[in-house]
Amino acid sequence: MDLTPPTLTDVLAARRRIDGLVVRTPAMSYHALDRLVQEAGAGGSQVVVKHENLQRTGAFKIRGALNLIHQLSSDARLRGIVGYSTGNHAQALADAAREVGAPCTIVMPSAPNPIKERAVRALGARVVLHGESLDDARRLATATAHDRGARLVSAADEPELVAGVATATLELLEQAPDLDVLVVPVGGGSGAAAACLVTAALAPHVRVVGVQSAASPAAHDSWRAGELLGRRNGTRAEGLAVGRGFALTQGILRSHLAEFLLVDDDSISHAQRALLTTTRTVAEGAGAAALAGVLAHTEQFVGARVGVVCSGGNASEAELRRALTGPER
Ligand SMILES: *Cc1c(COP(=O)(O)O)cnc(C)c1O
Repeated sequence: MDLTPPTLTDVLAARRRIDGLVVRTPAMSYHALDRLVQEAGAGGSQVVVKHENLQRTGAFKIRGALNLIHQLSSDARLRGIVGYSTGNHAQALADAAREVGAPCTIVMPSAPNPIKERAVRALGARVVLHGESLDDARRLATATAHDRGARLVSAADEPELVAGVATATLELLEQAPDLDVLVVPVGGGSGAAAACLVTAALAPHVRVVGVQSAASPAAHDSWRAGELLGRRNGTRAEGLAVGRGFALTQGILRSHLAEFLLVDDDSISHAQRALLTTTRTVAEGAGAAALAGVLAHTEQFVGARVGVVCSGGNASEAELRRALTGPER
């Protein structure tokens, strides 16, 4: 397995490779959201939301999937790809595989978010439901790929995914050149690692802050400990439901991440509601986690211009209902 971190050159190549295939998503500011964050305690701060919820397949992951799949040989494409995912990585792989005509099998933990499962099937992938957790799904996916000679695509230990995902940070730095902080939700860590690589090369004064759910703290705990750890994995936010640290992304986060915050799942629901009411944005839980991190730790953002990555919008009806009916704060 090649775990060499991508370079800025790789990121620029990825941008050319996927240009026209992905959306240049808007980066937007909202008076009502600024007021909310300021009143919560971050006086003088301003927020810029990077809207990857409006990306193709509803999350940033398609950037990485297209970059990876377009680099496979025609032979490898014929043998197909296998992935494991709670949903958005699956949609991205299925969509990218369909784009190049490669067969795609996705192993999802049982009881997936129904809108994500339907979307993966609709994109033509074969879906196998297996086990309780992403780790169970990973084991079956690994065996399946081995049996078929197919390419197993890890959720995070893939330099091509990180390079593709990093194109979102390139865009954001062009759209909002004066950021002080960039807040990124973390599951396997590809999004945060990508943000670290690009800011380190192009805007080293920007502090990259990761946010993870306290109910699934593997990446956070791995980063604090400086070693890859497995942890309980109980968050409702599927995009963040990862039970272990990944070598490639942890290595990058270790050198460049400025801070790593934990939030509880109810704060994430509250942030989903805030995005709905102040910005008319449908965010899934993981997509609202960065804002939840800002609202829960406002002391760290006083007076700052804060980029908040809204990483995805594939919310189930049940989670939107919970966000809207939860206690108002
Ligand atoms: C996958 C995902 C994340 C976490 O990204 P990683 O690169 O795994 O850390 C966050 N938000 C959404 C919407 C996702 O799909």
